[in-house]
Amino acid sequence: MGLLNGKKGIIFGVANERSIAWAIAEALYKEGAELAFTYAGEILEKRVRPLAEGIGSKIIERCDVTRDEEIETLFNKVRDTFGTLDVLVHSIAFANKDELQGEYLNTSREGFRIAMDISAYSLVAVTRYATPLMAGQGGSIITLTYYGAEKVVSNYNVMGVAKAALEASVRYLAADLGPKGIRVNAISPGPIKTLAAAGISGFRDMLHHAAEKAPLKRNILAEEVGKTALYLCSDLASGVTGEVIYVDGGYNIMGM
Ligand code: NAD
Repeated sequence: MGLLNGKKGIIFGVANERSIAWAIAEALYKEGAELAFTYAGEILEKRVRPLAEGIGSKIIERCDVTRDEEIETLFNKVRDTFGTLDVLVHSIAFANKDELQGEYLNTSREGFRIAMDISAYSLVAVTRYATPLMAGQGGSIITLTYYGAEKVVSNYNVMGVAKAALEASVRYLAADLGPKGIRVNAISPGPIKTLAAAGISGFRDMLHHAAEKAPLKRNILAEEVGKTALYLCSDLASGVTGEVIYVDGGYNIMGM
């Protein structure tokens, strides 16, 4: 019997088979979860649809998280098809490429707004729609953050500030939703080569540095994030909420 037999989940943030969201989806699916998927636009649909269909997904919907009407349409479909929801995975971030290089000082007002809206506020928006579908039986909501929320990481810039807002949102949402039995947590992985990561200037150096400094002396795999997500979504983590869990080979514990 799988850890998530009979559970229904929705995965935001698959762009392709390298996406962290896809590794999480595979881990949850293997343990019995039935999953819905979203994609951000037509170009990504071509990648996401075959992956989702390959694991029998009945809901594969467009959802640009900057558009409230698309979020509402999506959750109406989830309610009509699933009835209830147990798991939500938010694996979404975006900042304009020119904000992810040089000095944070030069962040534009519009660049700041976009990064905050897509990378932080969207968690609040989708959680609000998921809450009524989870409230009866409880649920688990997961988002993805990064060490740059806490410490200065060169070129991560406005995304670090957005991740700080995201981590604070995890705590506020966990406090709001705890009485309904809904848990909200973040996973903070070390660097992994994905589409979003390719937008960060000097990302290859980040990979080398992380592998050198981390106690495990290597970069982590998306599958390892998937396993932690599985833990957080399952009953094994029934007492865990409002946390940021590092999956970074121990990188974050190191000082000099
Ligand atoms: P990815 O490019 O595969 O995933 C990012 C996703 O965000 C894409 O699916 C993209 O379509 C989606 N997205 C962007 N704008 C959107 C919008 N307006 N509406 C809906 N979706 C939108 O890259 P990834 O590395 O798997 O990123 C997933 C999450 O993991 C992000 O939050 C990222 O910050 C976080 N993360 C990544 C790393 C890493 O090194 N790759 C490390 C720590 C945290």
